[in-house]
Amino acid sequence: METKILWGKELAQETIERIAREVQNFQEEGKRSPGLAVILVGNDPASQIYVSHKERACEKAGIHSMGYRLPSSTSMDEMLNLIDQLNQREEVDGILVQLPLPSHLDPSPIIEAIDPVKDVDGFHPLNMGKLALGEEDIVPCTPKGVMALLDHYGIEVEGQEVVVVGASNIVGKPLSLLLVNRMATVTVCHIKTQELALHTQKAQIIFTATGVAHLIKKEMVPQGVIIFDIGISRINGKIVGDADFEGLQGWANAITPVPGGVGPMTVAMLMVNTLEAYKKRINQET
Ligand code: NAD
Repeated sequence: METKILWGKELAQETIERIAREVQNFQEEGKRSPGLAVILVGNDPASQIYVSHKERACEKAGIHSMGYRLPSSTSMDEMLNLIDQLNQREEVDGILVQLPLPSHLDPSPIIEAIDPVKDVDGFHPLNMGKLALGEEDIVPCTPKGVMALLDHYGIEVEGQEVVVVGASNIVGKPLSLLLVNRMATVTVCHIKTQELALHTQKAQIIFTATGVAHLIKKEMVPQGVIIFDIGISRINGKIVGDADFEGLQGWANAITPVPGGVGPMTVAMLMVNTLEAYKKRINQET
């Protein structure tokens, strides 16, 4: 069996081009550009790379990005004041706080301070609550990107036995909810799961987001499985996913590559969420 590679790069690029055309149409109608404020605290190298990818995507999409690079010493009050100002600014449609934050900054009150209509990461309790209720509004970017890839490749999850490995608030949990909303039978595994292979062995589709390089190996999965690999880690400077990509060739039915699979979709979905927030807001502007 030849394993199909589920690329995300092209779809992400097409999505950003579609947004750029939509933004241009709005501008031709005399409307302002969508605006995204991106807050980065400290100098975590991975976060700096992610933020620069997001800013580059904004440029391509015609979204005005406003970068706030703050020192690691930034206090909670300073963060909350900045968010308060951004909530009030008309030209700011989306507010993104790059995670993780330095350890003295609890992310919960910061995310809760963001106006839910500008919460383009979809992490605000209101947006997460809507997702849990099956009333999806602003959905977190990485899980949304995974769902867009499922749709693009025509992979049906309804009634399927799916396993999500990883249960974080930003990936595993919201992804599990999206899959339940689509009527998949979902098993969620995490660090305390005693026999991971017991679960992955019965999966028709596996979604893995742990950051443990090559956690998912051929021996742990049935032949013909489909794998969405969301994890990103580095081995000797090379970026790899949670799945043993090479070892699964000829065994899995299909697999997303790392890099080039889910990663670019995350950034594209941030652009989609920002455009959607913009559309809701300009409809209310006079
Ligand atoms: P996290 O550290 O918050 O959560 C990791 C999850 O994996 C936890 O639920 C933990 O219990 C589980 N886990 C860890 N080791 C495990 C093991 N051995 N067996 C089973 N479960 C285990 O991380 P996160 O923010 O959810 O990110 C997960 C991975 O996805 C990271 O590699 C991150 O870089 C990557 N990521 C990728 C994108 C993207 O766009 N592709 C976006 C966000 C995160």
